[in-house]
Amino acid sequence: MSEHIGVYPGTFDPVTNGHFDIIRRGARVVDRLVIAVAKNAGKGPLFTLEERVEILEAELAAMPPVDGYRVEVRPFDTLLMHFAESVGASVILRGLRAVSDFEYEFQMAGMNARLNPKIDTVFLMASERHQFISSRFVKEIGRLGGDISGFVSATVAERLRARFAEERRRRGEAKKRIQTFEE
Ligand code: ADP
Repeated sequence: MSEHIGVYPGTFDPVTNGHFDIIRRGARVVDRLVIAVAKNAGKGPLFTLEERVEILEAELAAMPPVDGYRVEVRPFDTLLMHFAESVGASVILRGLRAVSDFEYEFQMAGMNARLNPKIDTVFLMASERHQFISSRFVKEIGRLGGDISGFVSATVAERLRARFAEERRRRGEAKKRIQTFEE
């Protein structure tokens, strides 16, 4: 019997507990799950593509192994359907939070179905605990010094804190340069 390969695409900037919930549950419905990290330069990601892949890989390695789960992380910078075809996927996996995701996901699933009707999009409802978690708000809260420990792993929280500290330091240096220039 041929194996069922699923692709879970996203920006993962950074990966949150909500993503992990979908990864764990998604891994159970396919034989092999490929987490596809989109370059998505248009979204102006905080972490580079390489960093996002590295964070995901480190997190997965630290996750308790579950029998038979086969999960791998791959970057991509092409059309999602082309990537899915290249890995032999039969399904695209997406997570769905409340109503906010619906319109966008509905359109994307429809367009992708037109591009390749043999690859179906399968949605997993976000679980109640993770319903309100989004990478975007995690970044906004973190940048303003809020507590993000309930939304991401300790390692991801640390990476965010380090990145924001670096941002603040760079902004401080730029301000100093402008002041010196004005004097
Ligand atoms: P994208 O830029 O493709 O939306 P994201 O990294 O934001 O990438 O999300 C990837 C997928 O994970 C999307 O299907 C999104 O709806 C889903 N997702 C994001 N956060 C959660 C969450 N808290 N619970 C369940 N699914 C989520």
